[in-house]
Amino acid sequence: MKIIVIGSGFSGLAAATSLADKGHEVIILEKNSVAGGRARVFYEQGFTFDMGPSWYWMPDVFDNYFATFGKKTSDYYNLVRLDPSYSVILEGNETIYLPAGVEKLGDLFESMEVGSRAKFQEFMRQAKYKYDVGINNFVWKPSRSISEFLSIKLLYDVTRLDVFQSFSSHIRKFFKDEKILKIMEFPILFLGATPENTPAMYSLMNYAEMEMGTWYPMGGMHEIVKGMVSLAEEKGVKILLNKDVQKIEVQDDKVSKVITNDGEFTADVVVASADYHHVEDKLLGEKYRNYDEKYWDKRVMAPSSLLFYLGVNKRIEKLKHHNLFFDEDFKVHAHEIYTEPKWPSKPLFYASAPSKTDDSIAPEGCENLFLLIPVAPDLEDTDEIREKYYHIIMERLEKYCGENIRDSVIYKRSYAHQDFKSDYNAFKGNAYGLANTLMQTALLKPTLKSKKVKNLYYTGQLTVPGPGVPPSLISGLLVAGEVEKEM
Ligand SMILES: Cc1cc2nc3c(=O)[nH]c(=O)nc-3n(C[C@H](O)[C@H](O)[C@H](O)COP(=O)(O)OP(=O)(O)OC[C@H]3O[C@@H](n4cnc5c(N)ncnc54)[C@H](O)[C@@H]3O)c2cc1C
Repeated sequence: MKIIVIGSGFSGLAAATSLADKGHEVIILEKNSVAGGRARVFYEQGFTFDMGPSWYWMPDVFDNYFATFGKKTSDYYNLVRLDPSYSVILEGNETIYLPAGVEKLGDLFESMEVGSRAKFQEFMRQAKYKYDVGINNFVWKPSRSISEFLSIKLLYDVTRLDVFQSFSSHIRKFFKDEKILKIMEFPILFLGATPENTPAMYSLMNYAEMEMGTWYPMGGMHEIVKGMVSLAEEKGVKILLNKDVQKIEVQDDKVSKVITNDGEFTADVVVASADYHHVEDKLLGEKYRNYDEKYWDKRVMAPSSLLFYLGVNKRIEKLKHHNLFFDEDFKVHAHEIYTEPKWPSKPLFYASAPSKTDDSIAPEGCENLFLLIPVAPDLEDTDEIREKYYHIIMERLEKYCGENIRDSVIYKRSYAHQDFKSDYNAFKGNAYGLANTLMQTALLKPTLKSKKVKNLYYTGQLTVPGPGVPPSLISGLLVAGEVEKEM
């Protein structure tokens, strides 16, 4: 079959590679001039800036991906495990360095709350079970029919997965110490919802982070994209850049052609990995949409982000590779993201300095800094607002580091809602798609297949299994499986 994949993020690349591997003729149409979607890269004044993801978790998912095609991760990039995994900065600039490995983490927790080593071990034992069932079984369900979940084993598993309990109450059965709670709740924030609204099943994230480790691909996160692009091309996928899809034309309930800014394309099957809402709202005619505007408005979106990419002409001793500034009240910030969306009054933020691990991404003697403030989607986004927040967080960063940094910034670029919209056609300027709340899990997510257009499929972070690099990659493989099964 001739297959068109719209978009070259992780989901699009995975879908295209898998379909080409099955013998189909696959082209990717990508609007931007670089592949990788939210994980693009740019180069400026000797710095290499990863634009999106910076945390490499669940190495098994990547290893299995390359192994599916008879390859190894190390054929494409080299991974190093970070130790400490990251630092957490609390009120008063108290810093906790999270060591790599559960033994040392157990020691750390015991020093913070007597008896917590044993509780941590029990928590991790349960989290391992959830990871095994969740990542090896649940996330591989295309979630198109309830029947996929009707097996005695799966139903038994569901009862042990704590699907109906919140992560927040689950974790409080193990620990009382506020600092431990903050540390344990951090991985949950990756799912784009608060611990109160996230099913306890997602303690699998703690297992992923604490047992399996925080890794870094030398050269930067975009090395993953480069690896996936090479593999896709080895399989015969043609990646056409600067091809902005403007319309999907439908005739007799089938896609008849895909119209771009630069030519028209025909195919037997179309897989749309661009933001789901954009495909429905802007590319398809109204009568072919799976969901109307009311449906989308009711979705709980994961946060957007205000980002700063900074080139600094000196090294900053105090920072580690990953630094989480939890020095303000998380509840207030979460309220301003989810309940009463507005620019945060006292934001938490994340500072990444990958040049701590990798000399190749900054000129000698310089630091490559990436700052991220999670913010509500769909906010007013102006230069003045961005600048205001730049100074708010730089003030805190400088105080923590004990030195002036702003005067040493030789390159600065900001990125927020408007950029997510113009670069990725992101619904409400979202960064990470849909939040993983209980009501937006599996069958309750936007479906992988068009209900009205026979040869149109969807993939990516707005459908199953959800946001994040490993889930997006799995989403691509899932949709390829569905195409192969049905067409
Ligand atoms: C700032 C940030 C930090 C993150 N940090 C992490 C992290 O540390 N770890 C982690 O695991 N995940 C992280 N994520 C999430 C992760 O990056 C995403 O979930 C994942 O990259 C999404 O992949 P995707 O294929 O679904 O979508 P995308 O990457 O958005 O790919 C969709 C593609 O479709 C293209 N497209 C859109 N419209 C059209 C059109 N009309 N025509 C042609 N092409 C089109 C876009 O240009 C894009 O290339 C982060 C995301 C962001 C934004």
